[in-house]
Amino acid sequence: MKLSQRVRQVKPSATLTINAKAKALRSQGVRVISFGVGEPDFNTPHPIGQMAVQALFRGQTRYTPVQGIKELKEAVIRTIQADYGLYYEPDEVLVSCGGKHCLYNLFQAVLDPGDEVIIPSPYWVSYPDMVRLAGAEPVFVPCAESRGFKMAPEDLRKAITARTRLLILNSPSNPTGAHYRPEELRALADVLMDYDQVMIVSDDIYYRILFDEAPWANIAMVEPRLKARTFVVNGVSKTYAMTGWRIGYLLGDREVIKAAGKIQSQSTSNPSSVAQWAAVAALSGDQDTCRHMVQVFAERRTYVMDRLRHIPGITCHVPDGAFYVFPNVSAYYGHAVGGRLLQGSTDMADYLMDEVHLAVVPGDAFGEDRCIRLSFALSLEELREGFDRLERALQKLT
Ligand code: PLP
Repeated sequence: MKLSQRVRQVKPSATLTINAKAKALRSQGVRVISFGVGEPDFNTPHPIGQMAVQALFRGQTRYTPVQGIKELKEAVIRTIQADYGLYYEPDEVLVSCGGKHCLYNLFQAVLDPGDEVIIPSPYWVSYPDMVRLAGAEPVFVPCAESRGFKMAPEDLRKAITARTRLLILNSPSNPTGAHYRPEELRALADVLMDYDQVMIVSDDIYYRILFDEAPWANIAMVEPRLKARTFVVNGVSKTYAMTGWRIGYLLGDREVIKAAGKIQSQSTSNPSSVAQWAAVAALSGDQDTCRHMVQVFAERRTYVMDRLRHIPGITCHVPDGAFYVFPNVSAYYGHAVGGRLLQGSTDMADYLMDEVHLAVVPGDAFGEDRCIRLSFALSLEELREGFDRLERALQKLT
């Protein structure tokens, strides 16, 4: 069957491929440890689920306004005002089916063929493909491990052309956990003030998962004059362990929000009504479970960094947030085991899966072939077992 040009440009998600492989092995009774997961290993807190059940029994099961229910928009506005110190009007908010859907709608609403989108690399796997789906071109700016995987202002300036339409910032980052400090954002904002045509996407989906009391900041908070051309993407998936509920929100210029809403009206319509009510409970309720989750992630980060430090040849930037580490394992490339030569992160991921039944995501999928991504959204017991396996597999390569 002939497929469209559009879909032929898109790669399947690397994370899903790894998970499918793990699943196939598990179905044969093999105990696979998965460092590949991209979601908290916690359950959605009870009061949030209760709100969804109540909404169900209240009969709040019909179409809602495409842009989201008033109560959720109000809860989003209150949350953003409290956490960012920025105020948005209800018509500057669009509720969609996850942060991913927000990004998709936004790109469809503002990008045209020939437009360029600057993506600091390493990047979240979906950005380039979503940009291509909108007909535009991703422009990657490599961000060195030695700079904590953060973009240098001079590199941003060099990447901007007359065709640049968007810059994507993701802090804390998936896959590196890197978080831009206010002074680093200030330096990027100074560059952006020279280029009026560049809009900014601030993907803040991990903003509450920050360690060491790092202060939360995004570019519009640091430079309020950029607020008018900044689009904030956020949602409940990571903060409240609600990945399956599919609720995200986009905030920014009302004309663009209306246009993104138009795209949504002709594709999914509103996000699930009961999930929207659950999100109201998440944003309005007690925030202690989130704080507890972050504390647990912080303890696991300490454990993971300690294990990584004891593996010869590996270097790893300490993540400031999110629940991933992105170690550089390239010292092990070029080694052969059992007649098999490891030449990059995909070979490494395949080797770890076959040799010790450990699932990791190859860094290549995030634009950095020297690294692999390990999630620490796993119990300490699983982490221990996973690192024992990693050590065992790497020892065979030396
Ligand atoms: N942005 C980043 C950087 C992510 O890692 C993810 C999920 O993995 C998302 C956005 C989208 O999350 P969701 O669509 O579940 O809100």
